[in-house]
Amino acid sequence: MSEGQQAAAARSTLALTGAAEVLRPPADGLPYLRHDRAHELRLDPTPIAVHGDRIADFAADDGAAMRIDATGCAVLPGLVDCHTHLPFAGWRAEEYELKVTGVPYEEIARRGGGIAASARAFAQASDGEVLAQARALAAEMMACGTTGFEAKTGYGLSPEAEARAVKLGRELGADRVTGLFAHAVPEGYDADGWMNAVDALAAACDVDALDIYVESVAFANEHLERLGAIAAREGVPLRAHVEQFNANRSVPVALAAGARSVDHLACLHPDDVEPLAAAECAAVLLPGAELMSAERTPPARALADAGAICALATDCNPGTSPIVSLPLIVGLAVRRYGWTAREALLACTLNAAWVLGLSEELGSLEVGKRADLVVLDSPVAHVPYRFGRNPVCLVMRAGEVTWVRSDAAWRVTA
Ligand SMILES: [Zn+2]
Repeated sequence: MSEGQQAAAARSTLALTGAAEVLRPPADGLPYLRHDRAHELRLDPTPIAVHGDRIADFAADDGAAMRIDATGCAVLPGLVDCHTHLPFAGWRAEEYELKVTGVPYEEIARRGGGIAASARAFAQASDGEVLAQARALAAEMMACGTTGFEAKTGYGLSPEAEARAVKLGRELGADRVTGLFAHAVPEGYDADGWMNAVDALAAACDVDALDIYVESVAFANEHLERLGAIAAREGVPLRAHVEQFNANRSVPVALAAGARSVDHLACLHPDDVEPLAAAECAAVLLPGAELMSAERTPPARALADAGAICALATDCNPGTSPIVSLPLIVGLAVRRYGWTAREALLACTLNAAWVLGLSEELGSLEVGKRADLVVLDSPVAHVPYRFGRNPVCLVMRAGEVTWVRSDAAWRVTA
């Protein structure tokens, strides 16, 4: 390599300049930031240099091949959606109307609705149809700033169909695929019997984490305990849907089992706030599902003040949260939880990446991390305030500009 070539290789390939606010952690190398420290997140102006797929420097680079003029903009790390139910087939819009007009869930289920309806749609759709829908949703997520996301199984409801869901999650290119094999008890099984099938699926399938839905209509704390043992045997993190509609006191069970996250928590028992906040276990809050299902509001302000590792996600699914936008989720969290914009953004960046075991790579703007960034056409404070509006005007994933809003095309020059 000539001296000139070496200089070119050392030079960054892309320079972002002019941003008024750039969200950065208080220090490099943090795996997560507990929420009582969210105010330490910095929002200073700084240029960003990208080399290949990595963040190279926070300094101006006049020799970059591509330039992004972010004048007047805020820049965030790529948003991370750590709880979605992609891939699924079809929607359940007709059920939503029944639900909001007061038809009880039992009646909806009797008419063939609920998770069983999504399982039927999943069984009837071809792989190509499932992937086409999921890819369209992933593109919508990208346009809202999501550059990393999790997929889950759970609409298979048979050993063969759950294995197919794992395969489709991988084909979709999700950053993590979670085996939610214990989502609902399939027809012909009782919960104990299905847990034997879950055990076999966990051993046979290539998944990054295991998950369970603990609720009166699904699985109980004893099954959560059993899944904890299975996850430990398989060497993958345990996650759990808990305390969504009832207080089942599942959090102490999940903590004892070493869970990576407990998700939902709308009915979290007050006595479980402190132990959860002290644990190395994320509280994943899903305010979109809370709104759409008229759930209670979790004690999110108390969790944040007590220093929990809080995360936010869309819970994107056809039943309780057909939502793809993390900026919308940020708006909901700020209003419902009494959180600051910094608290809400921390929860869908660094802490969400930690939930997925990806915080060395994603979730914050640091030299050496994957160059995933989101350019907003407004200050950070506008994200929750101008509720429901998408402020994202440019998205970069792994150093490549993957989405630009048409009115922001002028910002990119090559
Ligand atoms: Zn969920």
